[in-house]
Amino acid sequence: MNDTIDNKQDHAGQKPGRQNLLDLDREGLENFFADTLGEKRYRAHQVMKWIHHRHVTDFAEMTDLGKVLRGKLEAHAEVRVPQIQFEKPSTDGTHKWLLGMDNSNAIETVFIPDKGRGTLCVSSQVGCALNCQFCSTATQGFNRNLSTAEIIGQVWVAAKHLGNVPHKQRKLTNVVMMGMGEPLMNFDNVVRAMSVMRDDLGYGLANKRVTLSTAGMVPMIDKLGEVSDVSLAVSLHAPNDELRSELVPLNKKYPIEELMAACERYARRKKGESITFEYTLMKGVNDQPMHARQLARLMRQFDNALQMKDAAKVNLIPFNPFPGTRYERSSEADIRAFQKSLLDAHVLTMVRRTRGDDIDAACGQLKGQVADRTRRQAEHRKRLGLQAGVSEVDNVAPGRVA
Ligand code: SAH
Repeated sequence: MNDTIDNKQDHAGQKPGRQNLLDLDREGLENFFADTLGEKRYRAHQVMKWIHHRHVTDFAEMTDLGKVLRGKLEAHAEVRVPQIQFEKPSTDGTHKWLLGMDNSNAIETVFIPDKGRGTLCVSSQVGCALNCQFCSTATQGFNRNLSTAEIIGQVWVAAKHLGNVPHKQRKLTNVVMMGMGEPLMNFDNVVRAMSVMRDDLGYGLANKRVTLSTAGMVPMIDKLGEVSDVSLAVSLHAPNDELRSELVPLNKKYPIEELMAACERYARRKKGESITFEYTLMKGVNDQPMHARQLARLMRQFDNALQMKDAAKVNLIPFNPFPGTRYERSSEADIRAFQKSLLDAHVLTMVRRTRGDDIDAACGQLKGQVADRTRRQAEHRKRLGLQAGVSEVDNVAPGRVA
């Protein structure tokens, strides 16, 4: 096996000389039609519908395109979707896919149906470099960013599967960028993929129904505000810098005050839209009454700054354990008390119900197959200005689902 050549092909997500059309949003596809194929731009629209609405990848099956155009597409383009390596339905309707991205890497995507809505949890990177202490993805280290095709390909796979499931509840209505990886560290590809999610010729999801979750990449939150209208979720997890720096090392670079200021700027741009603050509850770590009071204060400050009720929403996530973790889930009584304390302080607070935990598909449990991570992880952390990880593991852990 010639790894070098295979990796080159796979990493670029295309065969030499052929453009993977999944890598392009509407504008990119129109340009490709005009510039490379010498075709009218609107022809690109037909192809988008074939790919995203009808899940057709073979140009020969795109019957309303002329023969000449189909020939040109076959010569210059391809539609390359992620390969399903493994899939697993949960007893609660949740469905998880392990998708092969290349010879050595795989990522996970999870569909969660719930009363009239269906949410797909999408990954943005192979592994993650941020080393959040309570997240199982962190134990795998970081390998690489996913391409646009690999990100939108996850939606393609799920939508195709759901199209074949004759059940209303199974419709895909929401996407959350809450799978593996930090989406704001793969900015261009994530933004392009989200543009296809929202495009009527793509998956037609409203802005509000596409949510990007970040651990707090402050400059990129501002950049996102300039180019996109998606909903923003911020992984806070601690109400003070000391504790947050321990749980989310990125906090050393972008502390809470700067993070909250960036959230404020984002919310101001999207007048009337709230921001969700995620808070994973860990027994004895961040779930004490003192933490609830500090968090309530932070959230009220946010509402006051924006002069808007419920500008900040809190999403409490009971910690989902994974092998080797030193944390435990808070008790039900502590979770309720934490929520009540926030509600009493007039902070809109929900508890996220755990779904799919029988198939290790719950928040923070996602694991793919991440190869060749150690060197890249070190480089990545250096670029971020973070210290080397404290939870380095020696072996490449295969996905638990495999
Ligand atoms: N990097 C992005 C997106 C990935 S994590 C971010 O940090 O937001 C998505 C969410 O999963 C985070 O909000 C985090 O709260 C949650 N999460 C991670 N590990 C978890 C765990 N073990 N239990 C519960 N939630 C977890």
